[in-house]
Amino acid sequence: MTLPIFGQEDARPVRPGSGGATNRTRIVLWDVDGTILRNGGRAGLLYDDAIRDVSGFEPVGAHPGEHGKTDAQIISERLTEYGLDPALLPRVSARLDELSEAGNAGPSARQLAPGVPEALAAVADAGWVNGLLTGNSPARVRFKFAGAGLPVDRFDWAHSYFGDRALVRSDITRAAAQDLAGSTAVILGDTPSDGSAADAVGFPFIAVATGVFSEDVLRETSAIAVVPDLVEGLPAVLAALATL
Ligand SMILES: [Mg+2]
Repeated sequence: MTLPIFGQEDARPVRPGSGGATNRTRIVLWDVDGTILRNGGRAGLLYDDAIRDVSGFEPVGAHPGEHGKTDAQIISERLTEYGLDPALLPRVSARLDELSEAGNAGPSARQLAPGVPEALAAVADAGWVNGLLTGNSPARVRFKFAGAGLPVDRFDWAHSYFGDRALVRSDITRAAAQDLAGSTAVILGDTPSDGSAADAVGFPFIAVATGVFSEDVLRETSAIAVVPDLVEGLPAVLAALATL
């Protein structure tokens, strides 16, 4: 499968959109893993596959607790844990992109979280732009969406923000806040890390419990709304957006 070519802007350390978001744009910045897509049971193995391919080192062991971290953060932490050179990060990231096509297709394809297409439509109908804010690279998001059957044009890619080279998620929200100055932006995500990254720049946060974190845990964040999923919870999400 051939996917669209990624532009030069994809080479930036934290990839902000093209800039120039008009004042008073209202944008929902969607997290990907656990929010748009159900978490994949084998998704975490691809990082080690990429590290092995680049370094020759054979990683072993599980890595719980990585939900909400950026790709660069996960790779960097694993490189350190394995005693490998942190400078391998760009090569491992590039290899991860390559592996993510087959790694998100066929039996490894990711599933949409419940109600996502309808929620995207409802958010757009309410006058909000749908953007992305994720720890994935653009390439990985495109492969994951292709596997899940979600058209990429459901999102404004010029105002989407990627963290495959950001070591902390708040660096992504800072890039978004700079790019979207004058707009109203909301983070929609499934982890407390989404909330703390939103807090870092004063974005409101809406939490959806379709990842590994329960509603009770997510209520301990700054979230202005916590919903179980985007079916039952869609009215509450729309009501929260209407207050902003
Ligand atoms: Mg997530």
